[in-house]
Amino acid sequence: MTGPVLSIRGAGMVYPGGVTALAGVDLDIHAGEFVAIVGPSGSGKSTLLNIMGTLDRPTSGTVRIAGQDIAALPDRRLSALRAREIGFVFQRFHLADGLSATDNVATGLLYAGVARRRRAELARQALERVGLAHRAGHRPHQLSGGERQRVAIARALVNGPSVVLADEPTGALDTANGQAVLALLHRLNAEGATIALITHDREIAAALPRRVEIRDGRLVA
Ligand code: ADP
Repeated sequence: MTGPVLSIRGAGMVYPGGVTALAGVDLDIHAGEFVAIVGPSGSGKSTLLNIMGTLDRPTSGTVRIAGQDIAALPDRRLSALRAREIGFVFQRFHLADGLSATDNVATGLLYAGVARRRRAELARQALERVGLAHRAGHRPHQLSGGERQRVAIARALVNGPSVVLADEPTGALDTANGQAVLALLHRLNAEGATIALITHDREIAAALPRRVEIRDGRLVA
């Protein structure tokens, strides 16, 4: 594909009650990019992330994922597009406590129509990519915070998405584990993953190849 993997045009979000959380947002993300979306609390980062991830539809403007205008898609088709094209990484990992690392990663393939045995194989490969092959059978409570986030990153990548959206991925980690997670994301990007990282931390943003700043619901510079 030649166009952007994610393209937002004139996106606005007005919440019920009249709060304008986003206004006139234009943003293109191309394959192979590693972009920081940086702004202070309340600037509209979560709102933009939800729109980029197709979890919310903007109240105005258009969103295209892998060339597809999401406005044209009914919810079921949109869920399928999201499962195929977008990987999510959250601040607090969102792993299932009762499942091994392998099974947690394999849930990233549940909606991709991959046979069970193949899911386990792909999950093991993804864990290897994040350096956790030796923890494949561990449950989240047997892992450090940094290891949990690496499992979550493996889950986001296992399906080969067009873009990974990482929401404050180091926000719940100590400095050393946070640095390790960032180093991992840099390596995965060098290996071809397209990543958008949402953060309020200017230092983290400064280390990324591209920065987009958001203030009061508008992108600046
Ligand atoms: P950030 O993630 O940068 O902290 P948000 O996107 O959460 O910013 O919020 C942007 C603005 O939209 C804020 O003024 C916030 O209060 C408002 N907002 C966010 N979610 C809602 C909602 N569900 N209903 C009404 N207002 C909201």
